[in-house]
This record gives sequence, C-alpha cells and structure tokens, in this order.
Amino acid sequence: MIPITRPLLGSEEQRAAGEAIASGWVTQGPRVAAFEKAFAEYCGSKFAIATSSCTTALHLALLAAGVGPGDEVICPSMSFIATANAIRYCGAKPVFAEVCADDFNLDPDAIEPLITERTRAILPVHQIGAPAEIDRICRIGESHGLVVVEDAACAIGSSFKGARIGKPFGKFACFSFHPRKVITTGDGGMITTDDEEADREFRLLRQHGMGTSDMARHSSGKVMIESYVCLGYNYRMTDIQAAVGIEQLKKLDDIVAARQRLAQVYNRAFVDLPGVLTPSFPSEIECNYQSYVVRLTGEAKMSRNELMQWLLEHDIASRRGIMTIHREPAYSDLCTGLKLPVSERVADNSIILPLYPQMTDHEQRQVVRATREALAV
Ligand SMILES: *Cc1c(COP(=O)(O)O)cnc(C)c1O
Repeated sequence: MIPITRPLLGSEEQRAAGEAIASGWVTQGPRVAAFEKAFAEYCGSKFAIATSSCTTALHLALLAAGVGPGDEVICPSMSFIATANAIRYCGAKPVFAEVCADDFNLDPDAIEPLITERTRAILPVHQIGAPAEIDRICRIGESHGLVVVEDAACAIGSSFKGARIGKPFGKFACFSFHPRKVITTGDGGMITTDDEEADREFRLLRQHGMGTSDMARHSSGKVMIESYVCLGYNYRMTDIQAAVGIEQLKKLDDIVAARQRLAQVYNRAFVDLPGVLTPSFPSEIECNYQSYVVRLTGEAKMSRNELMQWLLEHDIASRRGIMTIHREPAYSDLCTGLKLPVSERVADNSIILPLYPQMTDHEQRQVVRATREALAV
C-alpha cells in the first residue's frame, strides 16, 4: 500500500530524543529554547514560541490579538476544523469567507463585506502550504484596525514574494508539527511574531500564567517563589519533542526540495488528462507542497469518490481535499443556511495524492499509472 504521507524521521531524531531523555530534563527546557531560536532564524522572525500544537498556538495568538466573547473573526470555512475551533475557544464567532477556486486560499475580495463592528481579527490559512495573498489581506486588516493571525499550520518552508512564511506578515503566524505536516515533532506547534510584548505574553499563557520560568528558577542561586499573574494554560512543548524538531529543521530544505520535485513530476504526468486541474502558482509564490491536490472538473471520467475507490483498489491511499467546516455537525447551529458555493464545489471535487520526500520513482510511477488508467480517455 502506498501511503498518503510518511514522516521523514531517522537515526538523528532517535538519537536526539534519546539524549533529551538521558539528560533528565524532559519537559519544556533548554531544547525548547534552542528549537525556538533555530525556528525564528529560519523564518526571519524576531521571536518564536513553541506550543503543544498549532491549535493551541492559534488559541494563544487569538487571545493575544484581543479576541474575546462576542467578537467575530473572519476565516475560510475551507480549512481543517481547528482553525475555527480556536476562535470558539475564545468565546468568539468564526465568520466564514469564500476562497479562490484555483489555490483554495481566502479570497481577499470576500473579506471586506463581512467586516462588522464586532470583527476583531482576520485568520487566513496558507492552504496545504500555498501562501495566501497575505500582503493584500494585511492591508485590509490594517485599514480596518484588525489583527491578522496566519494559520500557517502546513506552510513551513513556503515563501511569499521572497520572504519565508513565518516572517510574519500578519502580527502572528502559527505552525503545526503534526506528522501530516512537512516536519514533525509527533505533535507540536510554534508561534512567530516580531512583537516583544506578545512574546512575553505567550510565554506566560502557555505555562499556567506563571511569572517565573522553570529554567530561571532552576538556575537561580536564590530561592524563588513563583507567582501566577494571569489565567494561563498548559500548552507547552516538551524537550523530547523539541530535540526531534531541531533535527527536523535541519532536514527541512531537503524535504521541501524533494516535495517540489515530486510535485513537478505529477504535474507533467497529468498535463493532458481531461478534467484534471493540477496545482500551479504565480512566480511570487514558492510552495512546499505539504500535500499534492488535484481538482476534478465535470470533464473528468470519474467522480472524486470513484477515483479514490479506484486508487484504493490499486493499493494507493488518497484523501479528500481540504474539508469545509460549515457543513460539519459541530457547526450546524452556527451555520444554518450558510452557503459557500465555491468552497463546497472545490472541497467536493479535490483529491490528495500520495507525496512524501522518500517516495521512490517506482512508487510515484504506480500512482501516475493508476490515475491515468482511471481518467485517460
Ligand atoms: C493541521 C492543521 C491545524 C492543526 O494543527 P495541530 O498541530 O494538529 O493542532 C490547524 N490548521 C490547519 C490549516 C491545519 O492543517
């Protein structure tokens, strides 16, 4: 069976995790600090704050953006459900905007009509690694006094107009290290920002609102009694995870290059298939191809679900494209009657094909052959 993805973990990560365990310091500590430093350097941000996941990173970023009960946050419905859940954790309401059909990203033109006096923030998603039109979105945010928080869960290693995602363009960018993403720490997340005050706030919030860090207390020559200065959370990353993350970050450029090469092979192999739209990006965008998604049009010989079944019967895993949140039962009360025709159409007609950096040419040929057999006329 050819899997949809496979994390690239090797003896380097195994050794690093083992060293963290042998050191006796396993929760947030020196390795988290080192991972944060390396991550900020990679993205070109002033600060990077590690968290337990991208979901908790988004929650903290929205809190720091001042999002609270009764507020509204504009985001795409076409995203993983955590995007909207993080808004609801703040007691706020996600207001779903349409996406562009060609790259699944938030349509900047759809944002302004949704802005009300309750809107606090805009939460664009860099879909499956492809950067949204973030400069325009930030200009819209600025002109309305709204904070822009980037859901960059899948976008580590991508860039927009020559700058790495995470730089950050908005006030905050949030990343995921779940195994489905480009690099992994098992689970884990990161916030990047250039705002020093927010950096301090994140460090408090992720650690129970505790005014003194474990490391400061541990290394102090004097007795320190900590105090808890605000309502905080336990959203820490462990040092075992960070040890893995440090090694993964060293491999990131090679992982992205391998993903881009494989994506180009797919693009060339499918160019003449009727009803198949392969991903393509303007030159100002560099995509890490966290996933390889094709969209089927009415001309395709099979429906999306038929193609998925066909591939399964040929020992090839596939997944539906990005979901829509507004059609999920958990959102039915919030979204009664809401119709997002573009999001619904592209979500229902797109399919993710296997792509991982260690994929062999033989494996990829197998996927290409089965897909062509299904769809060629
Ligand atoms: C994966 C993902 C998340 C959640 O990331 P976790 O680290 O699993 O919490 C959020 N948003 C998007 C767009 C994602 O793809």
